Amino acid sequence: MSNPSLEPEILISRLSHRPRHLLRAMITVTAPPKPPDSTLADRLRTDRVSSLGILDRLPPEIMSILLGMLDIQSIVRFASVSFRGNMFVQSQRAYRDLVVFAPQVLLALGRVGLIGLHSVVELHTALRTGRCATCTEYGAFLFLPTCERCCWECLRYNPSLRVLLPKEAKTYFGLSERHLQRLPTLCVIPGNYGISADPAPEHCRLVSVKAARGLGLMVQGSTEKLAQAMARRCKSTSLLVVGRYLQGEPAVSQGQDSLLLPSQGNIPTDNFFGMASIPFPSLSKSGRIEDGLWCRGCEVTLRRYDSLRLPRDMLAAVVPSNCEPQRVLLGLERRARSKQSFLDHIKHCYGARQLVPELATVND
Ligand SMILES: [Zn+2]
Ligand SMILES: [Zn+2]
Repeated sequence: MSNPSLEPEILISRLSHRPRHLLRAMITVTAPPKPPDSTLADRLRTDRVSSLGILDRLPPEIMSILLGMLDIQSIVRFASVSFRGNMFVQSQRAYRDLVVFAPQVLLALGRVGLIGLHSVVELHTALRTGRCATCTEYGAFLFLPTCERCCWECLRYNPSLRVLLPKEAKTYFGLSERHLQRLPTLCVIPGNYGISADPAPEHCRLVSVKAARGLGLMVQGSTEKLAQAMARRCKSTSLLVVGRYLQGEPAVSQGQDSLLLPSQGNIPTDNFFGMASIPFPSLSKSGRIEDGLWCRGCEVTLRRYDSLRLPRDMLAAVVPSNCEPQRVLLGLERRARSKQSFLDHIKHCYGARQLVPELATVND
């Protein structure tokens, strides 16, 4: 690309954005101020005598493994035990990365009451993975109950990335009140959620579909018996439809764009959309942080389709004939991409070429 206007950073600034209506559809937590740089103070205190007691006998590698297995709350407590404990924790890359790059996620986990659910290693693995856990796209969000990175599309359509009321979990997964005690409960942070920014119900507690389904399977013994238990409890057709959806597996084929799969019929409304997920940056192996880039061109394409100004051949090039155009174009508009994937995408994006006509001169 010799034309300066086609330099990657210029293209990114002209064609990408971070849509507030999507980011604000989820948990929003103001990141706490960055912790003060303690290295100087620490250096001044390195001669301080401190001990971890019997743990001092463990080799540092074993200590690292053990610390990685702790959840964030436990590791913070460990750090407060002694100066040496603190130094050990501060030297753990996984802990440092999470505190520096995703403090809002740690804060959110604490506020929803799930701080003890995931280990530092699990959270760090999710931070260092850019891809959505359930499809091939970039995932710009973290689903807190399962510590899975996910994209908007999967969050919207994949039942395992949903939360529901405990009483609903009883109905749909054949669980009793006693069983519910074994499920981690998410305490909804007051606020507005979803595209329409509906307020969350007051004092709302939710459980994850994935955890409820797993427990239901264990209790009932097989998927068939789980389905039968659900059918006995669902007294209406509409409840049965929701139950079958929640117990079903999402139709995702390996390596294929889930947006371009044939439409899957009516997906039950998610009344708790966004209440268990949060924007989540990704950290590449080279140490580069990304937040996801959304395409302004895809926004233009959708607008032109809505106002009947999208050329037929362009529509046919983007949307397979067995898919519903509105769903596909809306999905593309809401899709976040990694920097590299974004730069590849805009070479072929109809709307991006409308905004930056010079793109038409770029070859693959
Ligand atoms: Zn996905
Ligand atoms: Zn685009």
